[in-house]
Amino acid sequence: MTAITLSSVKKRYQKTDVVHGVDVEIESGEFVVILGPSGCGKSTLLRMIAGLEEITSGTIAIGDTVVNNLEPRERGCAMVFQNYALYPHMSVAQNIGYALKVAGMPRAERDAKVLKVAKSVSLEPYLDRKPGELSGGQRQRVAMARAMVREPKVFLFDEPFSNLDAKLRVAMRAEVRSLHRGLGVTSVFVTHDQTEAMTLADRLIIMNAGVVEQVGKPSEVYNR
Ligand code: ADP
Ligand code: ADP
Repeated sequence: MTAITLSSVKKRYQKTDVVHGVDVEIESGEFVVILGPSGCGKSTLLRMIAGLEEITSGTIAIGDTVVNNLEPRERGCAMVFQNYALYPHMSVAQNIGYALKVAGMPRAERDAKVLKVAKSVSLEPYLDRKPGELSGGQRQRVAMARAMVREPKVFLFDEPFSNLDAKLRVAMRAEVRSLHRGLGVTSVFVTHDQTEAMTLADRLIIMNAGVVEQVGKPSEVYNR
């Protein structure tokens, strides 16, 4: 089954095309990495899938639904950012549970869900802390937990580990792969780091200057 279909997806800012008509199909359950140098349009492409950036032309479908005109929260995607984007005045538990609260989920149900998700990313001891009291790795776990709590079918990662030190990055990659597998979701992960891409990807999308240059398994893409 196809999870995400990009058809002739373009993005133009003022008079410059930054994404030039991308055609890609991402299968359900796949871990796809978009790899390319800074400024090549990776983040713009991801943000168009998430609904955070308007599409200039083309279509994006998630499952069988064309999402061009859907709000971000209607798309069944969750995005994880490099800068975590946490609410600084809220506790870890409140950060994780916030979307559920806004959606009107009753307190007891929310508590159970927040606890379950926090456990899955080893955050249970930190539920009452504020983001400012956590390490970078812990903050990124909160960001992942907050994404997971709404049970999205698709995870979108925008260079989430770039601010972490090398050792932690390696650990977080293993963690994210394991969560991906455990949850049975589809993941799209943007990075400019070739090692990171090779480690994570079932399939690589190589981008350069707004164009998809290659799509394939890591072994296929680099053995030519
Ligand atoms: P990447 O994620 O690969 O680093 P981006 O998608 O962030 O690349 O950016 C692609 C290009 O689009 C860059 O040249 C960037 O300067 C440009 N760009 C991104 N956002 C905007 C914007 N809001 N207005 C104008 N140009 C933008
Ligand atoms: P409310 O405003 O409804 O009383 P809070 O602001 O206290 O809720 O908490 C917000 C979110 O954090 C809720 O989703 C709640 O389930 C969760 N939460 C708060 N503390 C904990 C905790 N110790 N363990 C699990 N979940 C918690």
